Amino acid sequence: QKQEWAKLKNEPSVSKDGVHVELAANIGTPDDLEGVHNNGAEGIGLYRTEFLYMGREELPTEEEQFTAYKKVVESLDGRPVVIRTLDIGGDKELPYLDLPEEMNPFLGFRAIRLCLEMDDMFRTQLRALLRASAYGNLKIMFPMIATLQEFREAKAILEEEKQKLQKEGTDVNDKLELGIMVEIPSTAVMAPQFAKEVDFFSIGTNDLIQYTMAADRMNERVSYLYQPYSPAILSLVKMVIDASHKEGKWTGMCGEMAGDSTAIPLLLGLGLDEFSMSATSVLPARSQLLQLSKEEAAKAAEEALTYSTAEEVQEMVEKRFL
Ligand code: PEP
Ligand code: MG
Repeated sequence: QKQEWAKLKNEPSVSKDGVHVELAANIGTPDDLEGVHNNGAEGIGLYRTEFLYMGREELPTEEEQFTAYKKVVESLDGRPVVIRTLDIGGDKELPYLDLPEEMNPFLGFRAIRLCLEMDDMFRTQLRALLRASAYGNLKIMFPMIATLQEFREAKAILEEEKQKLQKEGTDVNDKLELGIMVEIPSTAVMAPQFAKEVDFFSIGTNDLIQYTMAADRMNERVSYLYQPYSPAILSLVKMVIDASHKEGKWTGMCGEMAGDSTAIPLLLGLGLDEFSMSATSVLPARSQLLQLSKEEAAKAAEEALTYSTAEEVQEMVEKRFL
């Protein structure tokens, strides 16, 4: 099977009935680039920049960050690279920031919330990203957006730094796409409003499932509630995709669900444009996609939305597609 997959490395990601999607990889550091290329990913759908900030004593400088982002963007040679701004907090701590302990870290001061308040740190990262954008197809994405205000505020800061750089004569990609992660239910529900202001969505199912089901993604005892195939989750995913398409925008997914063979037919059927997963899942996903008809997948997805339980959905998909 591995040999069969390897033959698909340079093949397009297209369904049996001719529908193209993008199969991209998630990375944590530039060291992961080898895996991206070896597994035939068509882009990077999520670069988790936290790792640049972790395992050290102080914040990374603008120059250090610029070097890392530029390396990734150049290595992809014009293909898309979605870089997520700092998503610290929750399960990822930065001891040197000296933040007070919280009762509910996953519901607390993290990600964009923290960046909007510690805006010196945020501006440094944005400057590094903007400078790197001149070297390829870089897109910026904000994590944990819960309201339009947050998005607008973050975007305004980005615009300010962009103008400063341009005034200094630094090259910046002026058409750089700006998107958000959809990983909080309020944002999925408000997708029609968001879709008018963002360039793209990327659904973060790892958190979206945890927040929708109110079940800690790290807690084994409630893992039975962690249900990617729940009609509740599928409905939210559909709302996001439909809202983006209505505005001529695109939707990706960068949570684990995007690389899951049971979820893939449903996501194709719902119209997902980009699937971003661990690099080792890309070739198996491409092999599966080649066998799928988008038309049949769309019928299955529509049916799944009317089911009452995740088990029923799973059973139906396994019977028809696996
Ligand atoms: C997600 O929440 O689905 C996601 C991709 O982000 P992370 O796993 O880094 O929280
Ligand atoms: Mg997340």
